[in-house]
Amino acid sequence: MYKHEKRLLRSIFLILTVLSITNISPVPGGWNQTITDMDVTYEVSPDGKNIHVLRQVTFENRDEDTRFWRGYYSSFNYYFPQNASNICAYEKESSDNLTWSLSSYGYYTFCLNKKVWYGDSYAFYVAYDLPRNSNTVVFNIVEYGNRTKVVLRIPQYYETDIERKDYHMLEQKEFTEFVFQKGTTWKNPCQVTCVNHTDMYEIKGVAHLSEKEVGITVRFWEGEDAWGAHVLDATVKNLLLLENVTGFSYPPQYNVTIIQASVEDTQGYGGFNKGSKGIYLLHTSSDAILIHELAHYWTQECSFSHIWMDEGHADLYTYLVLTKTNPDVAVKRKDRTLETYQKLERKYDISLSAWETADSFDSTNKDAILFGYSKAFTVIYLMYEELGSDTMQTGWQCLSELDHEVDEQCFIQVMQEASDKDLSYIEEFL
Ligand SMILES: [Zn+2]
Repeated sequence: MYKHEKRLLRSIFLILTVLSITNISPVPGGWNQTITDMDVTYEVSPDGKNIHVLRQVTFENRDEDTRFWRGYYSSFNYYFPQNASNICAYEKESSDNLTWSLSSYGYYTFCLNKKVWYGDSYAFYVAYDLPRNSNTVVFNIVEYGNRTKVVLRIPQYYETDIERKDYHMLEQKEFTEFVFQKGTTWKNPCQVTCVNHTDMYEIKGVAHLSEKEVGITVRFWEGEDAWGAHVLDATVKNLLLLENVTGFSYPPQYNVTIIQASVEDTQGYGGFNKGSKGIYLLHTSSDAILIHELAHYWTQECSFSHIWMDEGHADLYTYLVLTKTNPDVAVKRKDRTLETYQKLERKYDISLSAWETADSFDSTNKDAILFGYSKAFTVIYLMYEELGSDTMQTGWQCLSELDHEVDEQCFIQVMQEASDKDLSYIEEFL
């Protein structure tokens, strides 16, 4: 029914914010003896144009080496996200601009306007903008260490989801501020997504499938035309491929509607298939999630009694479609799911027969939900590996033609008959 959206962006911005202060003069750099405090504000602009980042850097030289050798610090190295623009830096007290250069290693070197001798400190600002869409905002907070205070300023009318929850909130006129106090440890990027729910726009298309023409409607917020066009195109393409990998034609009598959705709309999941009412697709979801939700039109046709058969098959169909469109992603996703099951197997002793999905997905139940999905996929995938595509398709055809609910015993029995193999070992997973 639903599928967790892996926050793929998380790994992209691993390039970090930092901050080595380069030592000029004859001494080797003892910069772990220096102290750098950061005060960072990420502001989502109300005009819909950018995310403005303002970073106050306070540097203090406590490097003993510079005391004895009369060395000093005079520059500051810093990595920006690759999509940063309008970069500028200026001194805190005088507001004088700092000059900078881009090194061949990809970091910026800012020239401090004075020599920072042992015991001295120096404060300056670095500012830059990050891109966004007019009504959706997705970015990562990328910080390092535990001497950084982070404030997110977001217009109050936006719905905001922050991956980490250890902040407190303040109402500041038209903004809500989400404050991560100094002392918070920053290691991994933290994804922030914001949505301004506007009226919805829609585009339409037609998928020419094997037995019928299926109308496709994609609904999205203002300014999300590129998202809408991509989803329409991907839906048409993937419905055809789903017919191909399952061996049977698009089953429902109704057309397909895809609705762009926020984290609140999907309760933390990547998507939701609500049958004839349409698919709610999280605006940050990948094509794999879209395929998974579309695949449920096929899994629902079998009237499975248990959710694991529904979800296991939806993920197998997703894998099979991806092997045709994006084989690298298919293999990575499959391997990751099999590994997740192995990793969590010792922690959760949930039988598939008893597994139920939770109403919402968040950091407190994430692993338990992932365990259920990964175990369900593992069982169906193992069966697919053993039986092969043709035999599985024969089995699915039989299941879809039954006029009663398909329970676990019925599923195993039909697959045994289709393959002439003993599949009773599957019961160990149930
Ligand atoms: Zn699902």
